[in-house]
Amino acid sequence: MARENDFYQIGLTTAEAEKRAEKYGKNILNGKKRSSAYGIFFSQFKDALILILLASTVISTLMGEYMEALTIIAIVFLNATVGFIQEYRTERTLDALKKLAAPIAKVLRNRKKCEIDVGELVPGDVIFLNAGDRVPADAKIVESVNMAADESILSGESLNVEKTVSDKDAFGKVYMGSLITKGRGKAIVTQTGMNTKMGGIAGMLTEIEEVKTPLQLKLASMGKIISVICVLICFAVTGIGVIRGENIFDMFLTGLSLAVAVIPEGLPAVVTIALGLGVSRMLKKRALVRRLHSVETLGCADVICSDKTGTLTENNMTVKELSFFDKTVETDGGKSFYIGENVIDPRDVAEIRLAAYISVLCSSETVERDEKGNINITGDPTEKAILTMAVNSGTVEDNKLKIFKKVFESPFDSVKKTMSVGVEDKNGDTLILIKGAPDMIIPRCEYYYTDKNNIRMEAEDRKKIINVYERMSDKALRVIALGYKKIGKDQKNTEDNLVFAGLIGMMDPPRKEAGAAVEKCKSAGIRTIMITGDGKNTAVAIAKKLKIIRNSEAVTGEEIDKMGDTQFRETVKRVSVFARVSPAHKLRIVKALKSDGHIVAMTGDGVNDAPAVKEADIGVSMGEGGADVTKEASEIILLDDNFSTLVCAVEEGRIIYGNIRKFIRYLLSCNIGEALTMFLGMLIGMKTVFLPIQILLVNLVTDSLPAIALGFEPGENVMKMKPRRKDEGVFSGGLLSTIIFRGCLIGISTLSVYTCFMRWGENIVTARTAALVVLILAQLIHVFECKSEKKGIFGINPFTNPYIIAACLISFGVMAAALYIPVLNPIFGTVPLSLTQFLIAVSFAFFAPVVSGIVKILEEIFKKKKILNDNIVSVVK
Ligand code: ATP
Repeated sequence: MARENDFYQIGLTTAEAEKRAEKYGKNILNGKKRSSAYGIFFSQFKDALILILLASTVISTLMGEYMEALTIIAIVFLNATVGFIQEYRTERTLDALKKLAAPIAKVLRNRKKCEIDVGELVPGDVIFLNAGDRVPADAKIVESVNMAADESILSGESLNVEKTVSDKDAFGKVYMGSLITKGRGKAIVTQTGMNTKMGGIAGMLTEIEEVKTPLQLKLASMGKIISVICVLICFAVTGIGVIRGENIFDMFLTGLSLAVAVIPEGLPAVVTIALGLGVSRMLKKRALVRRLHSVETLGCADVICSDKTGTLTENNMTVKELSFFDKTVETDGGKSFYIGENVIDPRDVAEIRLAAYISVLCSSETVERDEKGNINITGDPTEKAILTMAVNSGTVEDNKLKIFKKVFESPFDSVKKTMSVGVEDKNGDTLILIKGAPDMIIPRCEYYYTDKNNIRMEAEDRKKIINVYERMSDKALRVIALGYKKIGKDQKNTEDNLVFAGLIGMMDPPRKEAGAAVEKCKSAGIRTIMITGDGKNTAVAIAKKLKIIRNSEAVTGEEIDKMGDTQFRETVKRVSVFARVSPAHKLRIVKALKSDGHIVAMTGDGVNDAPAVKEADIGVSMGEGGADVTKEASEIILLDDNFSTLVCAVEEGRIIYGNIRKFIRYLLSCNIGEALTMFLGMLIGMKTVFLPIQILLVNLVTDSLPAIALGFEPGENVMKMKPRRKDEGVFSGGLLSTIIFRGCLIGISTLSVYTCFMRWGENIVTARTAALVVLILAQLIHVFECKSEKKGIFGINPFTNPYIIAACLISFGVMAAALYIPVLNPIFGTVPLSLTQFLIAVSFAFFAPVVSGIVKILEEIFKKKKILNDNIVSVVK
C-alpha cells in the first residue's frame, strides 16, 4: 500500500510511458479517415465536364490531332494539380487545427504534474481531474474531493454520479468522454483508446465540425444558377457555330472548353481555401478556430463581452497588501513587509502568521520542492499568488503544518465565490478555514482576529472592514477575504459565525496590449463589455485604465437579479461593466444583447460558462485556463487567453470575408469577360474568336494562381469600418453591378482588338493571338484592381501582396511562352506578335481598368463635393 501511495506521487517515468505506448498504442478512437492525397487528386476529375472534355480529347487524338489533344490533357492536369495543392494544403491546415484543438490531459510523469496530449496517455498514468474536464481515458479513482461526473455521453442519462475511491466500478471509476461536473481528484488510467467504454461507441467528441459555412452553401446554390446560364451560353455558341457551317466536332470542343473555363464550379472550394488561409493566419496570432463558419460571423461582431481576469489582465498576480482589523501591511509578493515606511518581520505579527496558515491550508494547490529545495507552485494564479506570499513570508513552519489533517475540502467555484477546508488539529477539533470574495465572507463573520484575540464584530467594525475593502479595490486590487472558525467534534459546519482573519489584495495588471485593442474595437464599431466575477470597484478601476468606460458606472450580479427583463435590456444598452456576476448572469447578458439585434462574441473559461459561450454568436474559450466543456462549446479558442488575440481574430474574420468578396469579384468578372467574347463574337458573325485550347490556356493562367493569391491580401483598414450586417448578402454594396460592368468591359476590349486586327487586314491567327493577349492581360490587371473595393487602378499600391505579383509573373511567362516559343505556336494556334502589335494589345487590355479607374475618381470627386455642399448647407442653416 505504501508503495502504491508513493506511485501516486511519482507517476510513470518517460521511459515506462514510452514502453507502454508501444504496447497499447495511442489513446485515440479510430475516427473517420481523412481523404488520402490520391483521393484529393482524383477528386479534381470528378467534374462531369472535365470527363467529357478528356473523352473528346481522346476522340480528337484518334482523329490525328495528337499535339492539340496532348496539350489539352496537360492543361487539364496542370489545373487539377493547382486545385489539388490548394485542397491538400487546406485539408492539412484543418488537420493541424484538429490536433491543436485536441484536449490535453494533466498527468503525473517523473514526479511532475505536466500537461500532455490526451493521445499520449497510457494505462498506469496518474491523471488529475477537475470540474469542467472531459475524462481522457477510463481510470480508477485514487483520490476524490467531492468529485462527481456526468456520464450521459455513455448512459444517455444526464445524472451526476458521485465519484469516490471505491471498489464498485460505478462510483470508483471514471470513463473516457464523461464530464467532471464538480470537485477534483486523481485517478489511475486503466484502459485507453478503443479499449475504453467509449471505444465501443463510435465518434470522437471533440472533433472540429466540418459542416459547410452559410457562405459556402449560398455560393454553391448561386454557382448552380450561374452554371445553367453558362451552359446555355456554351450551347448557344456551339449552336450558332454549327448553323454557320463550322465543323460540328470543333464547335462541340469549343463549347465544352468554354464551359470548363467559365463555369465557376470551384466557387465554394475557393471559399474553403480563403478560410483555410485565414485560419492558419489566425493560428499564428494564437487564435484557434474550432468551427469554420464562425470566421464568417466574426466580421459581423459588434459587441465583445470579455472576462477581466486573465483576458484583459495579465493573470500574473502579486500580493501587494494585507489588511487586518487595525493594520495595513504592504508587501511585494511576500518578499518584504512594511507598515507605513517601516520594514517589519512578518513572524512578529500574529495576524500575518494566521493569514499565512489559512492561505497554505485552504488552497487547492500544493507547494512542491525540487531536489535543490526550490519551491514550485503551479496552477490557478490566484492560489499561486497567495501561496507564494505565505511561503515567502517564512511564517509557516513545516512541522506545525503537519499537525493539521485535512478532513474535507469544498473547492472554489464561481457561483459561491469561496473555497473552504476542514482540518483537524491535534486535539481532534475541526478548524473550518475559508477564503473568497469579501462580500461573501464579511457578512458571515461575527468576530475579527486581532493581536491573538477574537473580538466580537460590531456594526461599525464591519463598516470599517468594508471601507478598507473598498479602498483596496479602488486601487484595482483583487481582494480575497480570509476567515475561520473552530467546531467541536459533533458540531455541523455551517460556514457562518466566522472569525474575520484579514484581506489579501493582489495586483493583476491590465495587459499592455489590451488598451490598444479596446481602442481598435471602438474605431471598428465594436463595443467592449467587461464581465467579471471580481468586485465592482476593482472592475471599474481596471475598466477605466483600459478606457472601456469613462464614468464609474457598473452593475453587479446582485443588482441584475433585482431587474425585470425590460429594465435589464435597457441597462445592457448603457452599462459596459458587470461585476460579481455568476455564469448565469453572463447568459442573461448575452440573451439581452442578442434580442437587441447585436452579434455577440463572449469569452468564458470556467465549467459554468459553457451555456453563455454556446448562446453567443461567437463563443470564445481560453486555451490556457479553460475547462474542456467550455472549449467544446466554443467556436474559437484563444491559446494565450488574451483579449487582443480575440480582436486580431475579429480583424482577420473581416479580412477573410473581404478576400472572399475579392475572389468572387475577380473570378466572376473574368468568366463573364470570357463568355461574352465568345458569345458576342458569334452573334456579330465573327469566326470563332478562340480555339478550345486557347480558352483552356486562358483558364489555366488567369483562374487559378492569381485568384488564390488574392486570399493573401492583407485587408484594407478593415478595423476602421463598421461591422458587416449578418443578413448582408455577399454581393452587397454594388458588387454585382461592379462584376457585370467589369466583365463586360473585359469582353468588349477583347472583342474590339480581334475585330480591329481583322479590319486592319491581319490574318485570323494574328487577330486571335492579339485577342488572347488582351483577355489574359486584362484579367491580370484586373486582379490588382480587385485588391481594393474603394480605389480604382490609379489609387492602388500593387506591391503590398508579393503573391499576386509572383502569380501574375508566372501567368505572363506562360502567355509569353505560348507566343514566343516557336514550337508552341502551332499547338496554341498563336503567332509571335511584333512589338507594335503587342503594345496595341496592351493598350486594349488597359482600356477597361483605365475607364473604371476614371469612373472611380469621378465618383470620389462627386462624393467629396456632395459632402462639402452638405456641410456648407448645414453651416448656412
Ligand atoms: P473573470 O470572470 O473576469 O475571470 P474572476 O476570475 O475574478 O473574474 P472568479 O474566478 O469567479 O472571477 O472569482 C470571483 C471572486 O472569487 C474573486 O474576485 C475572488 O474574490 C474570489 N476568488 C477567486 N479565486 C479564488 C480562489 N481560488 N479561492 C478563493 N476565492 C477566490
